[in-house]
Amino acid sequence: MNNLADPGVISDILKRHGFTFSKGLGQNFLVNPTVCPRMAEASGAGPGVGALEIGPGIGVLTAELAKRADRVVSLEIDQRLLPILQETLAGFEQVKILNADVLKTDLHRLIAEEFAGLEVVVCANLPYYITSPVIMKLLEENLPVKAVTVMVQKEAAQRLCALPGTRACGAVSAAVRFYAEPEILFPVSCGSFRPAPNVDSAVIRLQIRKEPPVEVLSRKKFFATVKAAFGQRRKTILNALTSLLALPRDRVAQACQAAGLHASMRAEQLSLQDFAALSNALFPDSY
Ligand code: SAM
Repeated sequence: MNNLADPGVISDILKRHGFTFSKGLGQNFLVNPTVCPRMAEASGAGPGVGALEIGPGIGVLTAELAKRADRVVSLEIDQRLLPILQETLAGFEQVKILNADVLKTDLHRLIAEEFAGLEVVVCANLPYYITSPVIMKLLEENLPVKAVTVMVQKEAAQRLCALPGTRACGAVSAAVRFYAEPEILFPVSCGSFRPAPNVDSAVIRLQIRKEPPVEVLSRKKFFATVKAAFGQRRKTILNALTSLLALPRDRVAQACQAAGLHASMRAEQLSLQDFAALSNALFPDSY
């Protein structure tokens, strides 16, 4: 089988199929031969494991997952890539390509139908225009998934893996921590892609937690509190929550006190435990 990460091989395949890259679909294909084996290895793909991939492109990462996992299912939105994938993955019986938009796919159903009896991992070089929606879909839907190993833009990696209570933290970082234990695995330079994007990337891994690390009375209210606090991150939590949650100022002030927090703190100073205590105090009747 050809080396699918070889720029010469890629341009030959794409030329033969008359394929041109779609910027709108985030099509930057990997041409660095070391990245996909490292990603596939880190993803946990192996015997007894099913791997779900998003956006296989011409199949460079798909092939590495297929060498390790018992089954690989890849969702590709661009139907022009289907004949190419049929050619490049011809030797791999355990691979299934579905022409589908990940954001419109019922992943619970897909996992139940395609990966019965297998432990499931997600591994992908994500299209950057939908990084956050895809990651939040994977986390919020409480899928039976062990880990999510994905390539994202370097800045997104830093934001997604930032620790609450630090300056780099945002609402999405707090949400990721609630569902998973995130870590940045390794950087990938922009020269590793064709066409080369303007920014560098990084591979991150989210190990999905069995239980959230904090007790919240209502997840909905917890995430609303986090979002409001970071929605006006330069303001104090008292001002941000009063304005964005449309609550009386004295109620927010009392909740801060009950949670052991100073009302003049900023969102980036709060830990996950602080946010849990604050939302529980703000909305004690939630369920
Ligand atoms: N995995 C390949 C690689 O590493 O070279 C391609 C990665 S490329 C960054 C992203 C891929 O995701 C493209 O093949 C693109 O067509 C596909 N894609 C974009 N939006 C998608 C969506 N909503 N659902 C599924 N695939 C999508």
